[in-house]
Amino acid sequence: MKSIFSMYMDGRNYSDIARQLNKDGVLSPTLQRKFYKTGEKPLPESKPWNNYEVKRVLQDVHCTGDSVFGKYQQSVFQGNKQRNRPESEWVHVENTHEGIIDRELFQQVQSKIQEYTEAYKKKHQQNNGAIRNHNFYIGKIWCGGCGNRMTLSRERNGTFFYICGANTNHKSGGKQCKGHRVRKEYLDDDVLRLIQTHMKTVLDTEKMIQEMNAASKNQTQYLLLDKEVGKLRRELSRISKRKSDLYEDYSERLITEEEYIQFSRIYSNEIENIKSRLDTVLAAQVRYSQDYHIEEGWGNVIHTYMSKRKLTKEMADAFVDSIIIHGKYDYEIKLVYDDQFADLQKLKKEKEAQSR
Ligand SMILES: [Zn+2]
Repeated sequence: MKSIFSMYMDGRNYSDIARQLNKDGVLSPTLQRKFYKTGEKPLPESKPWNNYEVKRVLQDVHCTGDSVFGKYQQSVFQGNKQRNRPESEWVHVENTHEGIIDRELFQQVQSKIQEYTEAYKKKHQQNNGAIRNHNFYIGKIWCGGCGNRMTLSRERNGTFFYICGANTNHKSGGKQCKGHRVRKEYLDDDVLRLIQTHMKTVLDTEKMIQEMNAASKNQTQYLLLDKEVGKLRRELSRISKRKSDLYEDYSERLITEEEYIQFSRIYSNEIENIKSRLDTVLAAQVRYSQDYHIEEGWGNVIHTYMSKRKLTKEMADAFVDSIIIHGKYDYEIKLVYDDQFADLQKLKKEKEAQSR
């Protein structure tokens, strides 16, 4: 018993101590109780000491000669089941028997245990935080089999996998959903490749449309519009001339007032008509000669990440809308800009058709 305390203070851990005790053939408290009860000596190959047994001895206040009562509560109504009581309700009585362990040593061990427990907790929390930091798709990645969220987990060898949330809950009694498991590294690579292709295609298409616009100034469609503008302008001046001639005719009494009003109305209508057609054609001509640019926000995002060669959380935030995992290498990645992208491709096709 004494040696367990000194081994622990020497810096040996629970499993190390347990191994030592098993090797030395020391009976664990559990086996000791069994031996007292049945009188049967446990087999030498049984390895009764484990981390938990060692820790329990190290925390056993009986070793100091004190006793604690009221740790458990037994109720006959609950079939004599033991229930743990809160520590504040325990009754600590000093010197109920002869102690084997010095109180000071016992206290040292207690503070060391607490220190280690807290350090472990802290490390564990940091670990969880670190895993979360690796997940670029929080709230965006789903299982294609059952619709659950995919969660990121780290294997013992350090590899990260996205696994179906139903599988993580499986241990606590949930339904199992197998086969929806993807290595983070592969998924991130594919997401990066997709974003890079997207950025490159968008910039190329934008440039292509700009070039088509510039070229179209000297090309059929632009020239046709130009011709139409000239024709409408000539027509406009012809009708305006006729309208003013009409007034002269009327003032020289070559036509009646009735005729003047009638023709004047016809010419006015025609002038309005031509003016509105001219507006339409001029607007079309402006559209053809204008420089083309994709939507500003979209363009800014692309220019920010264009040179990046590694996927980052910020990049995934900016581009990824959702990911659905169907299988090991089978997943759908939807980008935030997929709709604008489709519109852009449509525009490009229209332009190509026009310039033919
Ligand atoms: Zn699933």
